[in-house]
Amino acid sequence: MNFRTIRMSLLVFLLLFLSGLTFAQEHTVQGREIFGNKLESINPENGLIRCVSSEYEKHLFQNEPNRATTEEFEAWLAPKVEAVKQRMLYATTDEPIIISIPVVVHVIHNGKGVGSFENISDAQVLSQIAVLNQDFRRMLNTPGYNANTIGADVGIEFCLALTAPDGTATTGIDRVNLGVAQWTSESAVENTLKPQTIWDPTQYFNIWVAKFGGTGNNSLNGVLGYAQFPSNSGLGGISTNGGSATTDGVIMDYRAFGSSDIAPFGSYYSGYDKGRTATHEIGHCFGLRHIWGDNSNCTVNTADSGQDYCPDTPAANTPHFDCNAVYNTCFSAPGNDMTENYMDYTNDTCMSTFTLDQKARIVAVLQNSVRRSTLVTSTVCQSNLGTEVFDNNNALAIFPNPASDVINIGIANSAILPTSYSIFNALGQIVAVKNISSVNDLQIDINSMNTGIYFIKIERQNASKTFKFIKK
Ligand SMILES: [Zn+2]
Repeated sequence: MNFRTIRMSLLVFLLLFLSGLTFAQEHTVQGREIFGNKLESINPENGLIRCVSSEYEKHLFQNEPNRATTEEFEAWLAPKVEAVKQRMLYATTDEPIIISIPVVVHVIHNGKGVGSFENISDAQVLSQIAVLNQDFRRMLNTPGYNANTIGADVGIEFCLALTAPDGTATTGIDRVNLGVAQWTSESAVENTLKPQTIWDPTQYFNIWVAKFGGTGNNSLNGVLGYAQFPSNSGLGGISTNGGSATTDGVIMDYRAFGSSDIAPFGSYYSGYDKGRTATHEIGHCFGLRHIWGDNSNCTVNTADSGQDYCPDTPAANTPHFDCNAVYNTCFSAPGNDMTENYMDYTNDTCMSTFTLDQKARIVAVLQNSVRRSTLVTSTVCQSNLGTEVFDNNNALAIFPNPASDVINIGIANSAILPTSYSIFNALGQIVAVKNISSVNDLQIDINSMNTGIYFIKIERQNASKTFKFIKK
């Protein structure tokens, strides 16, 4: 054997070895399971798993056979979405109604210093909130803007809570050392991490940031995040479809949380470092499904395009992991695959769009689903310091809410009248102020106000309490 032959043999061996390795990797990927079910999609470039929300939902169905089915949930939601669409169609003003969602971010760590590894910095948390606001408001001159004619300003803003469940002040960033180096299984997350740290999910939108790891089937290794889908109301004799109140929210790996453009000193996964995993997962929490409907269906009708229940997202029969080319996986249906949609699996920099139909679904869910409709009227983004004595002595309340003609300030003791109230719109502009001199002043005529979200701040001496209400 001369030198040339040896070199050729080595080359052949190397090629055989590499092809065997590639086969082994593909085999592992195809066979991998999550939550006891086949993993639907994995990024072939880097092995990362964008989202396992649909697998998580499937798993919940298996564990709770009495849950309402997806079809029952959709039948419950459909007329509510239609009502929102009618309102959007006939809106008399271009000014969107802004819904503000109070957020708590639980940073789950293992004793590392603030700003290192999974104990991410405040700046990284704040960068994520900034991205959410850019994306859900389609904010001009940010990566969340798009010029698509069906692109929507969803009209949702996210704020970090200022009042904790016990009434004390908070930054909305809740750092918890659970003494676990990495979270390897869904059961540990669902049975320990979430229930031990969750804040009242009717008042706070819970986001957890942790380190995922482990090996093999059913581990969370490489998963970027997952969300709990919304539930129906549970009223009218239909069983609810949702997951438990102790697990509601979004959980994410810290390497896909926040934006490296805004907070460059964090650890990020390449390609997933612009905060879009959270945008995608919160989309699920507010009722959105993947734009390919987690199936290869290309059927389109007036209510749907491929089982994402949003006709204006073109039908697609598979996820995409990049936007390097124009894709059309459903030739029988109009439109190219919408790789710029937040509910695809493309890289963070590809994404910029929620559609108008997706907005209608989100608004319908926020107005009607359990642990969603109460977020809309939660006041935990307001500082409540100094209110206890005033409130405890007088059990302040406002009613009805939502209201169309009159809103009332309820007090337990008319001898302790508040001294004044101020009403602010969602932009923080004062729209009404009044000194209160008698119980008659506790009845407020709101007939002339535009529909939307408002805050009423009720004051007495140095104390105040603020409520959110909806004028309908
Ligand atoms: Zn997803």
